[in-house]
This record gives sequence, structure tokens and C-alpha cells, in this order.
Amino acid sequence: MTQFDYYEILEVSRDCSGAELKKSYRKLAMKYHPDRNQGDKEAEEKFKQINEAYQVLSDEEKRSIYDKYGKEGLERHGGFGGGGMDDFMDIFNSMFGGGFGGFGGFGQARRSPDQKYAQDFEQEITLAFHEAVFGCEKKIDIVYKVPCSDCKGTGAKDGKMETCDYCKGQGQVVMRQGPMTFAQTCPKCKGEGKTVAEKCSTCHGRGYQTKEESVTIKIPAGVDSGNRLRVQGRGNEDKYGRRGDLYLTFIVEEDEHFIRNGSDIYIEVPVFFTQAVLGAELTIHSLEEELKLDLKPGTKDKAQFVFPGEGVVDVHTGRKGRLIAQVKMIMPEKLSSEQKELLQKLQESFGVESTPHQGLFESVCDRVKGWFS
Ligand SMILES: [Zn+2]
Ligand SMILES: [Zn+2]
Repeated sequence: MTQFDYYEILEVSRDCSGAELKKSYRKLAMKYHPDRNQGDKEAEEKFKQINEAYQVLSDEEKRSIYDKYGKEGLERHGGFGGGGMDDFMDIFNSMFGGGFGGFGGFGQARRSPDQKYAQDFEQEITLAFHEAVFGCEKKIDIVYKVPCSDCKGTGAKDGKMETCDYCKGQGQVVMRQGPMTFAQTCPKCKGEGKTVAEKCSTCHGRGYQTKEESVTIKIPAGVDSGNRLRVQGRGNEDKYGRRGDLYLTFIVEEDEHFIRNGSDIYIEVPVFFTQAVLGAELTIHSLEEELKLDLKPGTKDKAQFVFPGEGVVDVHTGRKGRLIAQVKMIMPEKLSSEQKELLQKLQESFGVESTPHQGLFESVCDRVKGWFS
């Protein structure tokens, strides 16, 4: 397909790490994704190259063969996938959960007509705050369906079905209401036109048995509650032994310190009232590093300090959000007699300025009196 160097295509150095590789792949794949470049042949070609390169370099074994023997080496080893656009879309989708429309929108509920259950299924997974923010590998237990060995997934004894007597095999029934007639999906056979003659006793008519397995899943950084990730080939099995897809829906736990809003992070910074009045230099902790917070004298309660690029990675764009630090003014709860004395002296030193409500009170008083005179 191409004679270009895989490292050059992915714009990485020959000794780059897996993470760098992935980052660069992600950036480029997003840029040349067919959804964003509709009808652009050049972009499509580029997207294919990027995926081909990533397919090889992200696989340790293939990468070392490529490093030593080049692309011919891969072809000799038979380890080269090649593949068409669909395969590449699959690689992309398996990493990022499907296109831009929705992060892993639930696919069509694939189901063959003579099978009692859908191919794909959904499972919720709970992530700790930091697991979602930084990404992680998660081992999960899944329970998936395999067709009942006796009825081959039909739920019928010996797989025997009979024509639905309610709709005469039409799958639809016609309803009349006054002058109107309208077709409705048959309630008995659910539109299949066929019903089970006798329930399979092995699976009690359900058509499946269940199997369990543990899988380790790589969860990209930046996922949030409600996001879905498609995990290819981990869904239910059909009678041909093909597995559907598993859709993982995330539930992200809250952190006691950081509050997340999309890719932005909020933190509350307690500031003692004297610090706020006098100004202070504080050190706060962002998700990854320490940050300096320069409080000017006279900082107000709820004042916000915005640090771009210190938030969470956006799972769609790869861009980082902001960290927003908000001042929470702290007043002393108790005063010693000495502190009280000091504060009183301080108050007096301000004179009129220390009673701001006074001026307001007087002007309101005058206006109210004016209404009745
Ligand atoms: Zn029917
Ligand atoms: Zn059965």
C-alpha cells in the first residue's frame, strides 16, 4: 500500500514509547478521520497509512520484526494485517469507542431472527476518579450468553418452530378502530412469524446458557460517567461461534478534593481572612503537579484562578481542560482576648471605612422618609 516509513507516518522517533505512539496515533487519526474529511481521498489514504503503521508499531512483536527486516519481514512472517477501510475503522473504534457522534454509541442490536438474544450487550463499570482521569487497565468479569447446545439458541425443543397462529406467520396483525386500520407487530411472536412449538427443557426456552470470563480492558484517559466504550468481540456468542460486542458504560466516582465538570476540574482553596486581606503566595496541587497561587492583597471570597491545560484530557479531542481554583474564605472561629483587642484596634484605625453599612443606611432612611412626607 505504501513505501513510507511507519515511524515517519506516525511522526514519532524510532525509540518512542507505547504511550507516545498512541498519543500521536490518536492525534493523527482524529485529524484524518473520514468523519471529518468526507469525500477527501487524500485524507482517506492518510488515515489508512496511519492505521497500518499503528497496527504494526503498537504490537511489540511486529514492531521488532519491522525494525529488523522492514515491511518485507512482516509479510514473510505472515503477521501483516493489511486490510481495508473497515478493518481500520475497527481498530480506531476499538480504541476510541466508535466515531465522533457519540463516544461509543450503542450499536445496532444485532440479532439473528432465530436466536432469542442479542449479540451485543451492555455492562456498567465503576471507576475511581483517578482511574477515569488518567486511564487505566481494568480487569472485569463478564457473563455472556452462548447458544443452548440443545436448541441452538432458538429456545425450542429440538429447534422446532411452528408458524405463529396469531398472525398466521405474517409477523403483523391488522387492527381496526372505526374507519382506521393499522398494522401492529404481532404480540405473540414479536414479529418473527414463528413461535416455539415446545420449549427446550435444557434452557427452559431462553435459548442460551451463560459463560463467564475475565478480561483486562484498557480504559483511555478522560472517560466520564455515561461514556461508553465498545469492546469488540466480548459480547454474546451466536450459533456460528461469533461473538458480538460488549459496551461498557462508565460510572465515575467522585473525588473528595477535585470536582469534575467535563474536562474542567474545580478545587476549593481555603484561605484565612488575613491571608486574603494581606495577600499571600500559596501552593496548591493540580491533578499532576504543584501550582503557585498568587493571592493579591484584598482577594475576595469565591475569587477564581484559572489554569488552562491542568484539567482532564477530553476523550474526543485529546485536549486538556482547565483547573479552576476557587477561594473559600475562612474566618476565625474563636478569638483570644489578645486577638480581639488587636482586631478592635485595627477596626478603629479604618475609621468610617470600617462601617460601610452606615452610609447606605442613612441614604435609604432619607429615601423612605421622602415617600411619606
Ligand atoms: Zn405472530
Ligand atoms: Zn435450549
